[in-house]
Amino acid sequence: MRPFALAACAALAFPAALSAQAQDMPTSPAGQEALEILREAIAIPTVQGRGQVPVLAEKLTSRLVEAGFTAEDVSFTPMGETGYLTARYAGRDRSAKPIVVLAHMDVVEAKPADWERDPFTPVVEDGFVFGRGAIDNKGDLAMVTAAMIDLKRQGWVPERDIVLLFTGDEETQMKTTQAGAKALSNAALVLNADSGGGELAEDGTPFVYTVQAGEKTYGDYRLTTSDPGGHSSRPDDTNAVATMSAALSKVAQHRFPPKLSPLTKAYFEGSAAQVDPELAATMRAFAANPNDMEAADALSARPEYIGVVRTTCVPTMVEGGHAPNALPQSASANVNCRIFPGTTRAEVQAQLTQLIADPAITIEFIDNGTIESLESPLDPAIMSALEAAVHERAPDLAIVPGMSAGATDSMHFRALGIPALGVSASFMRPEDEFAHGLNERLPVATLDPGVKQWETLLTTIAQ
Ligand SMILES: [Zn+2]
Repeated sequence: MRPFALAACAALAFPAALSAQAQDMPTSPAGQEALEILREAIAIPTVQGRGQVPVLAEKLTSRLVEAGFTAEDVSFTPMGETGYLTARYAGRDRSAKPIVVLAHMDVVEAKPADWERDPFTPVVEDGFVFGRGAIDNKGDLAMVTAAMIDLKRQGWVPERDIVLLFTGDEETQMKTTQAGAKALSNAALVLNADSGGGELAEDGTPFVYTVQAGEKTYGDYRLTTSDPGGHSSRPDDTNAVATMSAALSKVAQHRFPPKLSPLTKAYFEGSAAQVDPELAATMRAFAANPNDMEAADALSARPEYIGVVRTTCVPTMVEGGHAPNALPQSASANVNCRIFPGTTRAEVQAQLTQLIADPAITIEFIDNGTIESLESPLDPAIMSALEAAVHERAPDLAIVPGMSAGATDSMHFRALGIPALGVSASFMRPEDEFAHGLNERLPVATLDPGVKQWETLLTTIAQ
């Protein structure tokens, strides 16, 4: 997944025409290679069930081996129709705990008919690369691969091993992540390319950089109801579709209680310096007192902050009925929750049951392999390396720790006690963010500085 926007610039409103820094081709060779890798990756539809992850892994392997990685350093572990790729960048001290750089090769499904352009044909237009996976997560995967290749060609040798781990089912089961985390359970640190990152203001200038150091717990709940049904010309008191609709309506309108953790407190305090005075006051009020309902509600009114303030649950899928002229015999729906760390899934299920308050509706938790994970500590040495890397492209940019909506591969490492930080090198405006959505895109202008950011980060941490 890609992080939700972590802060927003409400102060400036530049006309769109002034805002675009349209760049259609990176200027550095490594940036150009990143674009090539990204285009190649978008063209391979690594959607669950299509068996294309190994195809992408093979392309990446060829590039890495061509750049000087040995065939033994790069390996693909197949798991069903998918699998995970590891590439070991050998360091001077082979016995030191490695640094893992994490990204994912798979993407969520995209229906070509709904898109303006074919989702699996990379198109560079108006300064963006369009295509499924452009931002989630093939853009950063391409940048970090280009960075490793560039460093290898330069002959740089890290003090310890750096291991690229590209998973193959992050968007679905995360089985490859679990296997990869197990195989690399001696890691000292995980740098995840799939969260965190830079936000641009409306005029395209860098506004804030977020490091993802924790995430919400992901939870899907299946709601079902059934009914004897009958002829639609003879309706009675009960109707499965109407019963389900009423339940979903309650879920959609419900607000869970606000919460604050050390990480979200740091996030709001850090973000307050970046926003207009009114919003800043609201953030500071909430950071000082999470029971300030006025502040909690004001922040929750903004899609970019509601996930940081509380658990959220929304209906995401619904089905019911079997014929246009029959009373429905069943209706079911999926409710997707992003649960604040510290609240269990069972507690949320109990809250949903209480909220819906209809014994005709059955609520069942769907186990998709995601787990609860801990917040990672912010190591000052790592943070200063990150600062060096980010400030090269955006001097003095505020770096704010944050929590994402979940779920990312990081949780499987955090669960093993390994700190994991989301440090994407993608910078974009929130309004250009279409991860999982239609017309997903990445600004071409982020590729040159993005590759450089990865290089500086890795060479500083593992110099
Ligand atoms: Zn992702």
